[in-house]
Amino acid sequence: MRCPAKVNLYLKVVGRRPDGYHELVTVMQPLTLADTLTVTLAGKGISLRCDRPDLPQGEENLVWRAARQFQEETGLTQGVRLRLSKRIPVAAGLGGGSSDAAGTLLALNKLAGKPLPPDHLHRVASRLGADVPFFLAREPAVGRGTGTQLSPVTLLPYWYLLVNPGVPLSTRWVYENLDLAGLAGPPATEAWDPEHPETWVQNDLGTVALKRFPELADLLAGLSDAGAWCQGISGSGPTLFGLFPTREAAHQAGLRLRRTFRGWLAVARGLTGPEPETTWEHHVWTI
Ligand code: ATP
Repeated sequence: MRCPAKVNLYLKVVGRRPDGYHELVTVMQPLTLADTLTVTLAGKGISLRCDRPDLPQGEENLVWRAARQFQEETGLTQGVRLRLSKRIPVAAGLGGGSSDAAGTLLALNKLAGKPLPPDHLHRVASRLGADVPFFLAREPAVGRGTGTQLSPVTLLPYWYLLVNPGVPLSTRWVYENLDLAGLAGPPATEAWDPEHPETWVQNDLGTVALKRFPELADLLAGLSDAGAWCQGISGSGPTLFGLFPTREAAHQAGLRLRRTFRGWLAVARGLTGPEPETTWEHHVWTI
């Protein structure tokens, strides 16, 4: 099972609920960049092996929590073995943990003979995290509410140059430091013209990430200088992306940034509809 990363091409915070959660309008794009997860039914309990030693190897890991939720929801008595190979940078605004959790639910539901219909799976996913339901469908979507009310949106298969400076940024911290009063009014547009992303790519959380890491501004300028059609910050950051019409253009821009930038650089393509997972890895390059 591949668990794709995402970028938020558009993210507008429209309010804060009494329970502390923020209401959003966001356009989310899944990418060919993905973690690899192997799920088997065996033995008792839940076991996890993850190739990133700095990530929790037990119940704090989102895949472990997803497996537990699935067992509780379905009464599944068989044990679950999880093997996770991470490729998506962690705490990067690329949704890796949420995607891994959704992948766990999808894989277990298949292995167990589909005991949970889609709406039930969606409810379980929402409990695990606001971004998790999006990764059940793996198609471009507009998220509303906390991000869990999803409707499909048409995007083109843009190429992305992803730029991560290697410093983690906690989503929680970003929301805690967000100045709601300083945000512009209602969404500027709800017509996300796929031919003209430069007119609508924006992110309200970007200001917080930029304040925390001012060097991101230079990297955004670098993406623009390298020929990006438009550029932005994904989710709560700090990963930046530049949009390009072709793989070659994204790759050339990556080589140019690489002359001075020491962090993580990758080229990936947007997934615009159902597409076999096996093809994804042929459309990702780290530079
Ligand atoms: P989002 O964009 O959804 O806010 P993110 O990409 O910024 O998420 P993640 O990579 O999902 O962040 O990680 C957030 C935190 O979740 C990390 O601090 C990490 O310790 C924890 N975590 C638990 N399980 C996982 C997992 N399978 N992969 C990545 N992080 C995980």
